[in-house]
Amino acid sequence: MLGLMQSQQLLISSLIDFAERHHGEGEIVSRRVEGDIHRCSYKDIARRSRQVANALDGMQLAFGDRVATLAWNGYRHLELYFGVSGSGRVLHTLNPRLHPDQIVWIANHSEDQVLCFDMSFLPIVKAVHARCTTIKHFIALCDATNLPADSGIPGLQSYEAWMGNQAAQYAWPEFDENSASSMCYTSGTTGNPKAALYSHRSTILHAWAGAMPDALNMSARDSVLPVVPMFHVNAWGLPYSAAMTGAKMVFPGPAMDGKSIFDLIESEKVTFAAGVPTVWQMMLGHMQQGGLRFSTLKRTVIGGSACPPAMISAFNDDYGVEVLHAWGMTEMSPLGTVCTLKNKHLSLDASQKMAVRIKQGRGIYGVDMKIIDEKGEELPWDGKAYGDLLVKGPWVIREYFKGEGGSPLVKGWFPTGDVATIDADGYLQITDRSKDVIKSGGEWISSIDVENIAMAHPAVAMAACIGMKHPKWDERPVVVVVKKPGADLAREELLAFFEGKTAKWQIPDDVIFIDAIPLGATGKMQKVKLRETLKDYHLPTA
Ligand code: ADP
Repeated sequence: MLGLMQSQQLLISSLIDFAERHHGEGEIVSRRVEGDIHRCSYKDIARRSRQVANALDGMQLAFGDRVATLAWNGYRHLELYFGVSGSGRVLHTLNPRLHPDQIVWIANHSEDQVLCFDMSFLPIVKAVHARCTTIKHFIALCDATNLPADSGIPGLQSYEAWMGNQAAQYAWPEFDENSASSMCYTSGTTGNPKAALYSHRSTILHAWAGAMPDALNMSARDSVLPVVPMFHVNAWGLPYSAAMTGAKMVFPGPAMDGKSIFDLIESEKVTFAAGVPTVWQMMLGHMQQGGLRFSTLKRTVIGGSACPPAMISAFNDDYGVEVLHAWGMTEMSPLGTVCTLKNKHLSLDASQKMAVRIKQGRGIYGVDMKIIDEKGEELPWDGKAYGDLLVKGPWVIREYFKGEGGSPLVKGWFPTGDVATIDADGYLQITDRSKDVIKSGGEWISSIDVENIAMAHPAVAMAACIGMKHPKWDERPVVVVVKKPGADLAREELLAFFEGKTAKWQIPDDVIFIDAIPLGATGKMQKVKLRETLKDYHLPTA
């Protein structure tokens, strides 16, 4: 017997319809490439998303055609989120920090038809457009007066001229909720990049789960600042969760430095912000230098790479901001776990609470996870056994776009490439990416653990731990360190700092001081590049 409830497809257009009707006055604030602060409302975004949809129809784009963006976080990008997907096309967010050759490869692979770009990326588009063989329309995200006359890009139009005169009415099409809505390529640290192709259904379910209290806890009372780029896994789904809850949105545009982010948090009364640890490192540095305080920020979700415990304490103890440590990946839309406390933890003392908070957190409803050993046997949830982490759920990929790389699934589960423990309360702790684990004398050393200890030293701005070949032990850890500006730190002092904080054999064999650690397109440390830089290095202990 079937239930007798209405069957309604879960479509992204319903989010902006809802936001317009129930939170029409809700504010969308953007720092623009033009340098000014732009203000509009959900009502404006909804109207302009419909105009985008009309403009796409005018280009005769077919259902499922890809529309690419090269853009910062801002209101026009948000309109494309709704206008492109809502009208049945697929939004392809390109990462402008990639090498131009990679951008060409990705745009051709996804067969993008349209490219909408912020003017700051004009030099990239000039360099790549002739090689992007499927793109028929280039649109600069600006008004007609800011459009360069001699760009050399054929048929270049301004966004405002392209969509501004379109009708404000548009009937969003109804279609199967499993239709593709957007796509994001992984960084491709091994081999060519592969794309996760999200659906309307996966996006809505993910946005719903992400907004829940034990996830990101988003509401109409929030002012949300996604520092995480809209070109990286849909800014962790925040644009969708915000429309679903009616939260105010604050977009940083191109200004991602510590001062600009801090100023925006204060001026827009931001209550909730999201980003990778390296972004917060810059902002905390700026605040410490200027003796600054937050007046409205309540919580921040930090993920994408392990959040050092020192950063969690700095936010919590020094600024009264709750850190939600979260874990996920492009293939998971991206949310998998978020670290929030259970009732039983509330009576714990500060250091015991901290021991929970540094973990990557509990799986949110919708994400199933397990850890397995090398034979494929499931390991216990005891917080000690570590193994390969596998996941499944309605917003986890089942295969990559165009079947690249073959079927990734292992008996229906997606292997994350991470190594983790899970404790009896279900809290996941990532030990490492499997390729970053240091194998020393048959034992594993977590590079994240070593980095976390180094980061707790007051003179350390950034630390990366990598394994170096060793004739006896196979590999030994070394820690590569960037000192804080003006700080003094000797190798021996840092090595001594590890004493008593970890097992003796897990203490790095050496410290290498460096001016900067290479960061990838999503702000993560690039250990592959770092290893290349250090290829002539010899371990003093070898
Ligand atoms: P890529 O870095 O390949 O572009 P993602 O951005 O999807 O892809 O990265 C996902 C990976 O980032 C995870 O598999 C995990 O290794 C790492 N990661 C994400 N969040 C965390 C976290 N909170 N702690 C440790 N590692 C994390």
